[in-house]
Amino acid sequence: MVAHGLLAEILQDDDLILLAKAVREFGERELVPYLRKLGKEEFPDKFLPLAARSGFLGTAIPTEFGGQGGTLEGFLPVIEGIAAYDGSLALTLAAHESLATTHVLLGSSAEQKRKYLPDLAGGRKIAAWCLTEPQAGSNIFSDMRSKLSRTPKGWILSGEKTFITNGCHADLYVVIARAIDQDGQEVGVTGCVLERPGNQNSIICTPLHSKMGMCRTDTAAIKFDNVFIAEDSILGPVGSAGQVARRVLIRGRIGVAALVLGLARDSLARAVNYTKTRMIGKTSLFDQQLTRTKLSQMEEGLWVAWQAVRSATQLADQSKPCKVRASMAKVFATETALRIADEAIQLLGGYGYMTDYKVEQNYRDARLLTIGEGASEILRLAIAKNLETPGSGEDLMPSPESLGRDVELTCTSLPTLWGPSLNALKLAHNSFQMALERIKGDDPSGHLSSLCQTTAIKVADLATRLWIAGQVTRAAAQLANRGTASGNTLRRGKSFLAKASLGVCHQSMELLRAHGMSDDRLLSNYSAVLQITAQDRPFESFPPLVAERS
Ligand SMILES: Cc1cc2nc3c(=O)[nH]c(=O)nc-3n(C[C@H](O)[C@H](O)[C@H](O)COP(=O)(O)OP(=O)(O)OC[C@H]3O[C@@H](n4cnc5c(N)ncnc54)[C@H](O)[C@@H]3O)c2cc1C
Repeated sequence: MVAHGLLAEILQDDDLILLAKAVREFGERELVPYLRKLGKEEFPDKFLPLAARSGFLGTAIPTEFGGQGGTLEGFLPVIEGIAAYDGSLALTLAAHESLATTHVLLGSSAEQKRKYLPDLAGGRKIAAWCLTEPQAGSNIFSDMRSKLSRTPKGWILSGEKTFITNGCHADLYVVIARAIDQDGQEVGVTGCVLERPGNQNSIICTPLHSKMGMCRTDTAAIKFDNVFIAEDSILGPVGSAGQVARRVLIRGRIGVAALVLGLARDSLARAVNYTKTRMIGKTSLFDQQLTRTKLSQMEEGLWVAWQAVRSATQLADQSKPCKVRASMAKVFATETALRIADEAIQLLGGYGYMTDYKVEQNYRDARLLTIGEGASEILRLAIAKNLETPGSGEDLMPSPESLGRDVELTCTSLPTLWGPSLNALKLAHNSFQMALERIKGDDPSGHLSSLCQTTAIKVADLATRLWIAGQVTRAAAQLANRGTASGNTLRRGKSFLAKASLGVCHQSMELLRAHGMSDDRLLSNYSAVLQITAQDRPFESFPPLVAERS
């Protein structure tokens, strides 16, 4: 069940809309009958070849290596669309493509790319990416124990990895381990490719069953028992894999953000359909004012999260720095999607709790994604730390002045409608900056990095909201300029901006309060934003649902 009208409204780009439509046709034609036959915990071993045959594998892999030659942005409708049918299919694809295949693409020689990529992009081999270990996930780079030990003839891989998606079914493993030279010296985190044929006895896989969600995925603990790795199976220069893995994770985070939005879209569509059929007396549940408000908020969350994900993706496609923004997009998208999935269960009542209606499955599947590929807490801490890293190249919080200029340059019709929202955002921005300065001034080191974790997490959230508000503004201006911004789009954008501005003003005061401080300037900003957004309210209330038309 897929609310395609809503997706078209979100994507707004003809090529992406066509791609999303093709994914839906593929889903109806191939995935629905396949899923019907598949057991609830059965690994979908025919899925990757099926996706390859229909042109949905290797989306962002260059054609010379057997891929589709597209961009990461082009991958978004693919992973999102597949997730709307089944989260496990999408996660199987994400581990194979966004992690393992991308590592080979970003971190190997031309010869290695020619050797491995065509089979991976063509779905003839399935791959797993092995980073996490039993004793370390979030902190894996500071406590990695798997070893690649150099010998006169090559390398020996030993160690244990855990929670590896596709682990028991993989033909090919990309393994990241600490390399040790023959004299016992550490030579850095290094990646290697290991093919299963010929090594079955020294790759010991244990399936990890009984998961909360993503039940059709293959999750495994893997022991590499002194496996021989030839020199030409070492990926890239020795010691380079830490950097490559971090780049892989940036792209991976964008991919799972789109995945989780596919789960959320399906949940929203199911909630709309169900509430229309559930009668309360003579009126449907859908037509209750409270239900409309809930559904509108779900739609708004989805739209806003997409703006963040696309913005980070476009930077990745232009090879611009986007580590922090990919983290912001992932945290926001995963948490928004979880709320949508949860609300959909609530709207379906008792039926929502039953497995037949799939909304509970979407929730369980989505739940993984605030943990995997960077737990929300870790990403928030990294966002806060990066706020003061000079030269990171990321313009994290475009000032409202520059946003205002952008809006004026891009669009002539928007400034009047958008003016009050931008003023509110400007005040929120100002409150956040003042709160940060006061907190930094209060700390003897004068650095944000010495903030306690609880404060750092709040700072990261405020910065994220301000950044996303900027992306929402830019997206609305671009759409209005192209003449494709509907009343819905503008109302959603303005509604988010109002809430973000008020929230940031309020939370900035709360930040100070937690440090035993207060500031009248922040109070006056808050009161001004309250006034602006209250007067602006008619522009943001009760959007008719796009999902209704789908
Ligand atoms: C179904 C599934 C599939 C997976 N697939 C793969 C895969 O294909 N390949 C792969 O390599 N890995 C995979 N993973 C592993 C996943 O990436 C890790 O689970 C994730 O990185 C978190 O690591 P962890 O489980 O060790 O949790 P931990 O790192 O122990 O974190 C536990 C909690 O502590 C918090 N925390 C950690 N450190 C700090 C700190 N310094 N301060 C405050 N809070 C902190 C975290 O935010 C989290 O809430 C998968 C996991 C699952 C469940």
